[in-house]
Amino acid sequence: MPLQYRHASTLAQVLLLTRPEELTCDQWLEEVPGYVELCVSGEQIPERFALLEHHLMICPECAEELAAMVTAVKTLGDSGK
Ligand SMILES: [Zn+2]
Repeated sequence: MPLQYRHASTLAQVLLLTRPEELTCDQWLEEVPGYVELCVSGEQIPERFALLEHHLMICPECAEELAAMVTAVKTLGDSGK
């Protein structure tokens, strides 16, 4: 039963990706400014941002949002020099 097996493994992946401690998009947005600064400065990302990074993997909208914010902050930084 290859088809059923594939469905089951997909379901398992979804269950693994949506854990109870998952951030909502709103929570993610509250946390992200500090993360953007670290991304732009190239500093190491602390462990406390692990959930935030995890959200990026499961939420393409927020991943796009982050990319836009990093670009915006970089642009601002460049014009400020
Ligand atoms: Zn999101």
